[in-house]
Amino acid sequence: MANPLYDALFGQHAGSDAVFLQLSGGGMLSYRQFLGMAAQYAGYLVEAGLQPGDRVAVQIAKSPQALAVYAACAQAGLIFLPLNTAYTATEVAYFIENSGARIVLCDASKEADLAPIAQGCAAQLQTLNADGTGSFAQNAAAFPDQFETVPRDIDDLAAFLYTSGTTGRSKGAMLSHGNLLSNAESLQREWRFTASDVLLHALPIFHTHGLFVATNITLLSGGQMIFLPKFDLDQIIADLPRATTMMGVPTFYTRLLGDARFTRDLAAHMRLFVSGSAPLLAETHIQFEDRTGHRILERYGMTETNMNTSNPYDGERRAGTVGLPLPGVEVRITDAKTGAELPRGEIGDIEVRGPNVFQGYWQMPEKTAEELREDGFFITGDLGQFDADGYLSIVGRNKDLIISGGYNIYPKEIELLLDAQDGVLESAVIGVPHPDFGEGVVGVLVAAPGRERIDLDAVQASLQGALARYKQPQKLVILPELPRNTMGKVQKKALREQFADALT
Ligand code: ATP
Ligand code: MG
Repeated sequence: MANPLYDALFGQHAGSDAVFLQLSGGGMLSYRQFLGMAAQYAGYLVEAGLQPGDRVAVQIAKSPQALAVYAACAQAGLIFLPLNTAYTATEVAYFIENSGARIVLCDASKEADLAPIAQGCAAQLQTLNADGTGSFAQNAAAFPDQFETVPRDIDDLAAFLYTSGTTGRSKGAMLSHGNLLSNAESLQREWRFTASDVLLHALPIFHTHGLFVATNITLLSGGQMIFLPKFDLDQIIADLPRATTMMGVPTFYTRLLGDARFTRDLAAHMRLFVSGSAPLLAETHIQFEDRTGHRILERYGMTETNMNTSNPYDGERRAGTVGLPLPGVEVRITDAKTGAELPRGEIGDIEVRGPNVFQGYWQMPEKTAEELREDGFFITGDLGQFDADGYLSIVGRNKDLIISGGYNIYPKEIELLLDAQDGVLESAVIGVPHPDFGEGVVGVLVAAPGRERIDLDAVQASLQGALARYKQPQKLVILPELPRNTMGKVQKKALREQFADALT
């Protein structure tokens, strides 16, 4: 018996002196060094009493050591559970309790706050700091740099990844070896990753984008990552010449475009730019091509499924769409009320089925039953439509759909019109309580740089000709910026709370 995920991602590089990570500050880490560290961690975790299937929760800074904990978990048959570094101790308490983690790794600065929580859950607490020091690293240092890989089955769980909590309480998605591996293999093929690739990695590694998409593909292909602690514009511009590919959230690209140093020359040698996690405005896509000659490849996925659709590597990358279903992944659009599949072109619930779809939410059987159909389709919570060529567009989340006077209103349609108005940088359209219609439409606008004023009357007037009356915002407001989380996702829940009384 073997260990599917470990063997494919890590084991194949045993003894390799090829570079795996280039670190800011000039350091390098070879695959051999990385695997040695992971083996020490695995040896220690087993010695500390962890059994296959036990959860290892980590809230630690992005570092080679943090990635080695992931490798160690895979090798020892443990379940890796990374947590957003921004979560407070109170928030982390939920994840520790909910997951039943046996051990928690944190930064030394959080140790005092997390100690009582870990103790209350009978979990061990150890530290692993951004610079790789800490009690965990110290304890593991005494262990050999070889570890006998624990056999696992393709259906065994490899990770719990909690959703971002954009629409409600975060849910722990149970991901199997097969879920992670099938998706990494598919993306590697589709995006043509090889051992010659050097991926500029500035994403966090507690989220599917930076961890399972970027890192797993690199590991599978034996390439390198320029492993940056975070997105820093100066650093990105300095490192781009050494990279062949980059993956980012849309804000990475808008920030690059906002800098005059980001030129056609600087990007000329790049093979691929990928965007995801939040919608990439068609305008950004077009501006990026005008500036660099590259068309950003946008793809669509989520914690529960990894990636579902992608624009093609060779074919047309269509702005404003998330491309075509990946090989082996079925995507259908259904009617929210009846569950029946809708004809091509109509807007409905996006459902997906394939080897990438998760095994359910940990300890949430009701949520799992609500979202995972018996025939294996997962109801993503996103609304979308296919065009005539089979490209999928996302029109928003089901929970952001506005129902006003009985009519469905898709925020995206209004946002596209608002974004195009003079002086508007971006917008978010939300539904808030309305005394007559149930919900009414509020448009939140952000002014373009250098434009303090947006002429709201002119915006309203221009919408009058473009939109049916029931879709026209009953109120427009201006904010200095939209609330976003670390993945660049607009927090509409926060906006709805802020403007809850706007129409009453
Ligand atoms: P929660 O499920 O807890 O509310 P979340 O859905 O934001 O949080 P994630 O799994 O991190 O948690 O995000 C997946 C979501 O991100 C998708 O369902 C979709 O709404 C959005 N998304 C991902 N890629 C894209 C994209 N290319 N365009 C538009 N939206 C995207
Ligand atoms: Mg979600």
